[in-house]
Amino acid sequence: MKVIILGSGTSQGVPVIGCKCETCSSSNPKDKRLRTSAYIETNEGVKLLIDTSIDFRQQMLKNKIDNLDAVLYTHHHVDHINGMDDLRQITQRYDKFIDLYANETTVEEMKISFRYVFNEELIKYKSVPLVNFHVIKNEMLRIKNVDIIPVECMHGNLKIFGYRINNFAYITDCSAISDNELKKLEGLKVLVINALRIRPHPTHFNLQEAIEISKRVKPKRTFFTHLTHDILHDKINSTLPKRIELAYDGLEFNI
Ligand SMILES: [Zn+2]
Ligand SMILES: [Zn+2]
Ligand SMILES: [Zn+2]
Repeated sequence: MKVIILGSGTSQGVPVIGCKCETCSSSNPKDKRLRTSAYIETNEGVKLLIDTSIDFRQQMLKNKIDNLDAVLYTHHHVDHINGMDDLRQITQRYDKFIDLYANETTVEEMKISFRYVFNEELIKYKSVPLVNFHVIKNEMLRIKNVDIIPVECMHGNLKIFGYRINNFAYITDCSAISDNELKKLEGLKVLVINALRIRPHPTHFNLQEAIEISKRVKPKRTFFTHLTHDILHDKINSTLPKRIELAYDGLEFNI
């Protein structure tokens, strides 16, 4: 299974418009962060995306991805959903509907944000993304032949999903996770988890909290994502404990 981190940035992306800080001025490509999203391709060729970030179009072009079987959504915040309209290029080209999976709140909110995709006239002319929404519960689901385990986390007061696929788990925008849900993360080869910044934040793990989760779960490798411009890549990466690294856009690994 191949995983590509398409975006490792928080909601504003990095650089932040108008900001002159050290990270936003950095020439290191690892300090350029599109909005958070990941692509997974199984050995059997099943192509899954986690979240259609605001930067979805750019991410597909940059990574030469031209088809998807399904999208798993973590939650409905705009940085995670607003690229959805550009699924249209795939649904037109391959003349198909794409299945979108999310919890109930996310589906309800997306149906409001993207209400035009239900317009029958527009569907007929394929001028909207052709999508099927599926509400998923906190129980295993199968897409094609891939088993996916949702992992429920709290994002402030909002219940959201991370996902485990085989020995890989992807969690973003989490600020708390119960012991029961943490058990689903045993025996991971790779954990990707959000670590917003150094200072605490009410609705996202900061660096120290993400380190603590990684130490409890004990995956072989951990990558931090959804990073703000407080995180200068090389400086912070060198301070992290063993087997924990900062993710960056275009990071690719096989599991
Ligand atoms: Zn976010
Ligand atoms: Zn900045
Ligand atoms: Zn969020």
